[in-house]
Amino acid sequence: MRLYNLKDSHEEVSFSKAVQLGLGKKQGLFFPLELPKLNTQTLTDLMNLNFIDRSTKILSYFLHDEISSKDLKNIVKKSFSFQKPILKSISKNIACLELFHGPTLAFKDFGARFMANILQFLNVKNTPMTILTATSGDTGAAVAHAFYKMKNIRVIILYPNKKISTLQEKLFCTLGNNIYTIAINGSFDDCQNLVKKAFNDQDLKKKIILTSANSINISRLLAQICYYFEAFSKTPFEYHKKLIISVPCGNFGNLTAGLLAKSLGLPIKNFIAATNSNNTVPNFLKTGIWNPKKTISTISNAMDISRPNNWPRVKELFLKKKWSLKSLKYGSVSERNTKNTLKKLYNLGYISEPHAAIAYYLLKKKIKKTDYGLFFGTAHPTKFKNIVENILKINLKLPEILKKYNKKKMLSHFMKPNFEKLKKILLEKF
Ligand SMILES: *Cc1c(COP(=O)(O)O)cnc(C)c1O
Repeated sequence: MRLYNLKDSHEEVSFSKAVQLGLGKKQGLFFPLELPKLNTQTLTDLMNLNFIDRSTKILSYFLHDEISSKDLKNIVKKSFSFQKPILKSISKNIACLELFHGPTLAFKDFGARFMANILQFLNVKNTPMTILTATSGDTGAAVAHAFYKMKNIRVIILYPNKKISTLQEKLFCTLGNNIYTIAINGSFDDCQNLVKKAFNDQDLKKKIILTSANSINISRLLAQICYYFEAFSKTPFEYHKKLIISVPCGNFGNLTAGLLAKSLGLPIKNFIAATNSNNTVPNFLKTGIWNPKKTISTISNAMDISRPNNWPRVKELFLKKKWSLKSLKYGSVSERNTKNTLKKLYNLGYISEPHAAIAYYLLKKKIKKTDYGLFFGTAHPTKFKNIVENILKINLKLPEILKKYNKKKMLSHFMKPNFEKLKKILLEKF
């Protein structure tokens, strides 16, 4: 697959290169030069396959010229070797597609694990590599577990000290081995700034191979296309032309993957881009003005992003497919409505968490009686245990995986937001 840089279309790279680089020149995102298109028969055939075989096929439409289908199948098998998405019915024509049954209980396991296995596969010479990433929670855990114990790959994760929950911290700061975690005395922005500085440091670039693992990486997006096909395969037949999917959005990686699935030919009628009070995109769709404000802290903190990284890809896709941005449904949900929705879902017999509740709120508001609506469950409720317990006045039982890591010893290092210190760590041999 060839990809071009959205900020400089002269820069064209292979998929392998795009995965390793993350971003192109001028920090531009990579976008596929050609988008595969499947016919109706192929789509029907795909629906009859199991999750692994179907996902291999879908990914091979993009990657066949660089990775053989046999190798790809092994990579997909290793990456998606956990419980596949589960559909939980909420009412007659609304259901939640739970994407959080992976090793770190968030949908990010799909993308992170595929990226890890692809990077390892492409690194034929076993060159030592460093993955550097900043996290406010879910990404750190998904990335750490995905790369855990991989040879010649070291992962360094920065997070704001005392600003993430102990449960979340325990999930990725107790692993050791090739996972090095640093609690920064500062904010998430301080962490991100350190990461940015590292990627802009020419001296570092000469000495080590540095890769980022956030959702700007094209491999993560491709992996996420696969569960949209699973969503469709679980949709009752009579609703096949009436499927609406509501996606809780932060960096808009998840939605981009959904739109890519649609561009392949998957007949999803509509998407809803659901955000919390960080409403840069809803405002843009309403007014045509791009005006990111200061990021607001909310209870759906994985979506506390006011400059969504993947938005240029969404725009490009609409342009290329000649779809109208007006067809994209959207909304921004207040804290009060998020909390009330969580309670409403609980009264319907479903325990959710703030991110999915935002998607449900907008789905419920916008869906027609004759449509079928899915909203994505992006994280297990216990990952936001305190918030959910406080709102619903219940006690949540911890899943085995969280219990297991909760007992382990924390191995994090501590640091002030000091780039020279970070650089020294990056230059250490491993
Ligand atoms: C990361 C995350 C999101 C946002 O996904 P994007 O792809 O960044 O839009 C939503 N919910 C949860 C629980 C997340 O961890």
